[in-house]
Amino acid sequence: VKTTDASYDVHLGENILHDFCGQYKALLEKADQLVIITDEHVWSLHEQYVREHFSFPFKVYIVPNGEACKTFDSYFDVQTFLLQESCSRNSVLFALGGGAVGDLTGFVAATFMRGIPFYQIPTTILAHDSAVGGKTAINHPNGKNMIGAFYQPQAVIYDFHFLATLPETEVRSGLAEVIKHALISDSKWVNEFFELPSIKSIEKETLLKWIEKGIRVKAHIVELDEKEQSYRKYLNFGHTYGHAIEATVGYGKITHGEAVMIGMIPALMLSEKNGNVAVGYTEKVYEIANRLGYNFQHVLNCSFEQLAAFMLKDKKTTNGELHFALLQEIGEPIVQVISMSEVQACDEQLRKWIK
Ligand code: NAD
Ligand code: ZN
Repeated sequence: VKTTDASYDVHLGENILHDFCGQYKALLEKADQLVIITDEHVWSLHEQYVREHFSFPFKVYIVPNGEACKTFDSYFDVQTFLLQESCSRNSVLFALGGGAVGDLTGFVAATFMRGIPFYQIPTTILAHDSAVGGKTAINHPNGKNMIGAFYQPQAVIYDFHFLATLPETEVRSGLAEVIKHALISDSKWVNEFFELPSIKSIEKETLLKWIEKGIRVKAHIVELDEKEQSYRKYLNFGHTYGHAIEATVGYGKITHGEAVMIGMIPALMLSEKNGNVAVGYTEKVYEIANRLGYNFQHVLNCSFEQLAAFMLKDKKTTNGELHFALLQEIGEPIVQVISMSEVQACDEQLRKWIK
């Protein structure tokens, strides 16, 4: 990944943690301390593997599982730990976990002593997205990801070994972002999802190939527009409505990916209406999403008024105008200004399908 002020590699493969340590030996040996930040769940599942394959002495700091770690309290606790352990500008952090640990650790790294190096070691499928691109953040009670920084990692080490313990709900969540990457880049790739009978039927080799493709799509867009002035907005495909669903249902009660899958349906409807996406395409994607177990019932637990209120205060909304990432064609994203009444029409259509 090459951005204006950073360039780093994304390493992918099975059991690559050990090789990574060999490859970055000279760099890592210069550090005065190496600190792994991880969550309770990931550490309980993978401590042994990490201890066996991470070839340097390290300290570990364990934060609460998942989204619960993206708080001011966790942020403060990690910084306190680093200070107590006499970490310095020559210390290096490792984010071992899903997107939540990655976002927290990245933001700690961006701000500890005005910035120290960090590495992403993603352990979820969703984190194929979050670990690449340098967006780091914690949540504020008034809004998710409101406090953060653009801060790129030194490298991303995506060791597929970790994915073996991922529960189906998290596979489904991560797959939604993979499907998003397909929809915004390659119509032929999308057809591969159409053939899937279930989440369980996905073969490991196929999944790994898709993850790699997803990372390439993300990396390419980030290279064009690191700070989200233009092209990076394409990555918000499905997220305007999706984030509103996620916030209204409640964080932790729905996964990020499930909300994004739901959000891609209105985005596709709008793409049929405003772009050249074939009429009927959205319904097909909706049926496949149902077959893969995405639970659209969540929509019925949210009123459109709640969703609209959230969409209006989203940080991507300016002057009350909704900037929607849509598709001109499958694989060809664009950003368009959409009125709330147009979104409401899609919401109504979706509710009819769900019932
Ligand atoms: P997560 O980090 O909350 O992980 C989900 C759950 O899976 C947690 O309970 C975690 O403990 C568990 N888990 C992680 N790895 C596991 C493994 N290998 N085996 C078993 N369980 C495992 O969530 P996520 O879905 O990876 O990421 C969501 C977060 O990412 C959100 O906070 C979202 O805002 C953020 N995000 C950031 C970006 C970005 O560009 N920075 C992009 C998308 C999402
Ligand atoms: Zn997302």
